[in-house]
Amino acid sequence: MSRRTAVIGGGMAGTAAAKRLVAAGHEVVVFEAADGLGGRARSWHRPEIEPDVGINLMYVSFYPRMSALIREYGLEGDLVKISSNVHISKRGRVVGLSSDSPLDLLRYPHASFRDRVAFLFATLREVRRREELDLFDPLKTEHLDDGATAAEYGARITSAAGFDYLLRPQIEGFWNFASEGVSAVHARALLAWLGGSDFFVLRNGMEVLSERNAEGAKVRLGHEVTGLREAGGGISVGFRGGDGNEGAEEFDSAVVATPAPIAARITGGLDEAVVPAAARAFLETQEYEPALSMSYLVDPGALPKSAHIVAGGADDPPLRNMITYERTLIGEDGGRSEKLLVFCYPGRANTRRLLGQGSERQFAEVTPLLKTLWPDFPEDPRPFQAAERPYGFPIPAPGRYRASARVIREQRGPVVFCGDYFNSPTTEAALLSGYRAADALAGGPTT
Ligand SMILES: Cc1cc2nc3c(=O)[nH]c(=O)nc-3n(C[C@H](O)[C@H](O)[C@H](O)COP(=O)(O)OP(=O)(O)OC[C@H]3O[C@@H](n4cnc5c(N)ncnc54)[C@H](O)[C@@H]3O)c2cc1C
Repeated sequence: MSRRTAVIGGGMAGTAAAKRLVAAGHEVVVFEAADGLGGRARSWHRPEIEPDVGINLMYVSFYPRMSALIREYGLEGDLVKISSNVHISKRGRVVGLSSDSPLDLLRYPHASFRDRVAFLFATLREVRRREELDLFDPLKTEHLDDGATAAEYGARITSAAGFDYLLRPQIEGFWNFASEGVSAVHARALLAWLGGSDFFVLRNGMEVLSERNAEGAKVRLGHEVTGLREAGGGISVGFRGGDGNEGAEEFDSAVVATPAPIAARITGGLDEAVVPAAARAFLETQEYEPALSMSYLVDPGALPKSAHIVAGGADDPPLRNMITYERTLIGEDGGRSEKLLVFCYPGRANTRRLLGQGSERQFAEVTPLLKTLWPDFPEDPRPFQAAERPYGFPIPAPGRYRASARVIREQRGPVVFCGDYFNSPTTEAALLSGYRAADALAGGPTT
């Protein structure tokens, strides 16, 4: 018998769940509030640049499920390799640090020799425990989540100052959350996996994976789900359509794949028999670091190509990081010129302060900060695009892996949850979580 299942949220997690459920014979309807699939992995696109893609998420060679999808959909030819080097800034002095090169590490001037050697040995120790230190799977890491923070772990394996310029920038430069508020497991998993990994982007944006994953499901874009309730032995999904009209539709089951605070809100009216107290408490306590990305077009040569430049140090900096991508700018007369598209992310306090303020004010405040991270940043960068993600990065707080593992184990229909907040703020973790939610409903393999 075919079961009708609603998937609420068409990001990486929701569309992964949709794919599995369609394969298991469910009739699936995806409700997505935005006008396209992909969620936080969805790029913006502008016709003046080639490729026209803006925010372009990185896929790393140690993402097994994403690698399998790229092969399945024949997208290998769309992969563009980018540099895995990180440039770390200390009071305006920027130094490259390759995660692949022990020699680079031994020459690195921002940490003492003793810290560098200690860091190298700690990395080797964690690499030996790779299988346990899975960045994406709390069922593997929960037993290591003993309440210690990444900052405590860092100060144990090196000195606190060593941590500030060796590991902290690699955590905060990618996710912007404070290492003092993050589980040590997150830091250890990064150490275990970063070395020797290759980084790529998908030429036309990562949302192609969500779009392909949703094939076989009905997709309702521009449909914001307002609430779920129990109805006639099933689940009624209430929504507001793009035209502003409200409606409701009945299903046998539902996968809720929105960020956790939204999931808590729209399932708030469901009984404890449907959403157990532990799951509800888990959803209600997840916190997020918002993200504000400001991009500029500058002439090539002004900064290194395909580079990740991050602020070192324990303080929350005015500007956290910059990422550079090569683009061709197409002028109004059709003329073409090579440019660098530079993405900049303010630090935590500035991001929170500038969110919702409008791009004019955001550029006015961020542009004077560019030289704090790259002292030779060009004088007249062309502001290009601002993008906000209020639910940017779910924070893997100490104990979070243990709590999420419990919810994963206890999840069963008719309503299940998924999203990167179960594991780590990565598309790979979102995929795993979506597959698991689908398996909890359909009784498939749990991977
Ligand atoms: C700035 C930034 C850069 C990142 N860079 C990388 C990177 O390089 N590599 C990487 O692996 N990861 C990266 N990530 C993390 C990655 O984007 C996320 O981990 C992943 O996309 C989360 O997927 P998700 O499906 O769990 O959630 P989401 O992508 O948030 O999907 C949830 C979906 O639910 C929809 N929704 C919300 N409310 C409703 C509602 N009421 N009704 C219907 N639909 C609703 C949303 O519109 C959204 O489409 C980055 C994140 C950010 C913010």
